[in-house]
Amino acid sequence: MDKQIPVDQLTLAAAKQEIAPLREQLTKWGREYYEQDNPSVEDYVYDRAYQRLVELEQRFPELKTSDSPTQHVGGGPTSELIKVTHEIPMLSMGDVFSIDELMDFNQRQQDNGDVSVTPEYNLELKIDGLSLSLVYENGRLVQGSTRGNGNIGEDVTANVMTIKSIPHQLPEPLSLEFRGECYMPKESFVKLNQEREAAGLSVFANPRNAAAGSLRQLDPQVTARRDLATFMYYVPEYQKLGVRTQAAALDRMRELGFSVNPHNRVVHNRQEITDYIEEYTAQRDQLSYGIDGIVEKVNDLDTENALGNTVKVPRWEIAYKFPPEEQATVVRDIVWTVGRTGNVTPTAVMDPVQLAGTTVSRASLHNPDYLREKDIRLGDTVYLHKAGDIIPEISRVDLKKRPADSQPYQVPTTCPVCGSDLVHLDDEVALRCVNPMCPAQIKEGLAHFASRNAMNIDGLGPKIIQQLWDKELVHDVADLYSLTHDQLLTLDKFGDKSAANLLTSIANSRNNSVECLLFGLGIRHVGAKAARLIMEHFQNLDRLLAASADEVAAVDGIGPTIGDSVQTYFANEQVKKLVDELRAVGVNFDYHGSVVPAATDSEWNGRRVVLTGKLEELTRADAKHWLEAHGAKVTGSVSKKTDIVIAGTAAGSKLTKAQDLGIMVWDEARFAQAMKEEQ
Ligand code: NAD
Repeated sequence: MDKQIPVDQLTLAAAKQEIAPLREQLTKWGREYYEQDNPSVEDYVYDRAYQRLVELEQRFPELKTSDSPTQHVGGGPTSELIKVTHEIPMLSMGDVFSIDELMDFNQRQQDNGDVSVTPEYNLELKIDGLSLSLVYENGRLVQGSTRGNGNIGEDVTANVMTIKSIPHQLPEPLSLEFRGECYMPKESFVKLNQEREAAGLSVFANPRNAAAGSLRQLDPQVTARRDLATFMYYVPEYQKLGVRTQAAALDRMRELGFSVNPHNRVVHNRQEITDYIEEYTAQRDQLSYGIDGIVEKVNDLDTENALGNTVKVPRWEIAYKFPPEEQATVVRDIVWTVGRTGNVTPTAVMDPVQLAGTTVSRASLHNPDYLREKDIRLGDTVYLHKAGDIIPEISRVDLKKRPADSQPYQVPTTCPVCGSDLVHLDDEVALRCVNPMCPAQIKEGLAHFASRNAMNIDGLGPKIIQQLWDKELVHDVADLYSLTHDQLLTLDKFGDKSAANLLTSIANSRNNSVECLLFGLGIRHVGAKAARLIMEHFQNLDRLLAASADEVAAVDGIGPTIGDSVQTYFANEQVKKLVDELRAVGVNFDYHGSVVPAATDSEWNGRRVVLTGKLEELTRADAKHWLEAHGAKVTGSVSKKTDIVIAGTAAGSKLTKAQDLGIMVWDEARFAQAMKEEQ
């Protein structure tokens, strides 16, 4: 971004070339953020790209298109929740990134005569959640919905009924819509992610995505278990409430029993606005909920009403977005850790600093290329920010503070654990230790072998593996099956019960269907899905061992990279010995098909599902297998008992029947998202 040619120096042809991919990129990020609750980039990255698009479209209006992200509110209602039409559209909000820009915005309003020369603004915190509409009839809550694409949102009435801060009944018989923000407090977000991580589920990138993912649930009981909260801030038909200012509207909502953020303030000039912004920029980390800026609203509601909206944003409010938070610190060391596949990754160790509410002293440097590109050296002063407000990352080096005798950092050439030479395989950026006997890799490999999607050995975590290794009780995965009760009693905090439980888990894993073993061996490029496809084809490990790389590659969905990798792995003498040991200790080598033990904690457990139509990304067999492995019952016909119908393209009578019976219908994208959430 920084090296981009300024928009005013661009030719039309150059702008044309830039604008289409930029729009496409923003649309993709928007989908990930609004519809999948799973952004892949920081908000400020999105904001910068969006700003560039705005500038390009302003300079070259002929390049503006009606489907541009600047022309509509981001997000769409997902298919499985009932849709709700918003009588009064729920809009996005314009934003500025400095106090000067905010003052320019205000000045333009005054110059246009849109507001008086002595305007009054109500400043509020910009809560980092998702917008929520609540409709009351005669004082009773009748509907809750999300913003969706601004005109059509999703019905989340049953879900909002479970949120404690939302009154089901107002003290007055009002028939009115109230709007506000649904959010997840920081503490609840951390707890939820800890629970999900412990359960082997994916974690949410930030509290905003956790709130959106929790509110947009099919099952209100799931929402009820998540700790959601609200702050209400807007009444579109304020006249019905008998108020004339935004500040008074907030007070009225408080009286009615809504949760309203207490930090709003009426201000009149630059000084007061600056004070408020500075105050809350400093206090931001102490708040129990996330905020990503300050909202400035024209306080007089009739003026506000007269100002109206553009297609996308109200003209009477604007968001001042906080700059990404940064802290300077000094790099004292760069340590290298060896992963399961021999991937050797650098981590910067720095003087501890307070950053967005936590003490940070380490940040991943990902790979040697990243390290070289940023030219991070020992003794450098660096700026840290938190990706997704959570993961510490080095943004840049302060070259002015670089010590005079500083030397470029020398990337190691040997493994920090076993001393073998490190290599780059197939031009990949990662640096690897390819010694299969490297202790670090073996320990990581043991943890992978025991993990949920592999052999699922409950209770065999990294700390226990470390002890088993230190006491030389285990050298490879086959040794696990020879462990004795007495040996386990020598481990820290191990009693009779914990030893017996772990032995039972290990013993049970012997009977797993063989794809769990194949995945658990941790062969490069062989993920859980590839392992299953391979074993579904060969049915037995010995048959796979006898197959050539080409035969493996020829399996539907596999290909030469995996074929070669499998062949190379099993050709290794050490691996041959390991396979013999696993056979000797009675580990199952047969494919059991779909009778994989159901993951009992899955939200799919017990659901009746029908698959219909053509799926694009998955085979039907894959989808069926996954559903069954997560406890769902996959049936061939739609009945009243069916919970969900997953419909691909060209779905026929089953889809029609599901619609007639009012059964929930998901498209493939929604199902793929649910699969991802379960991982
Ligand atoms: P927005 O979230 O920046 O601002 C509008 C929203 O602010 C309103 O809809 C409302 O829900 C909320 N809000 C919070 N407190 C409020 C208050 N006190 N008064 C009024 N409204 C309040 O706008 P948006 O269109 O929802 O999203 C755009 C932003 O989302 C971008 O600026 C970007 O930061 C982020 N985004 C990020 C990605 C990504 O990939 N990281 C992708 C798309 C969008």
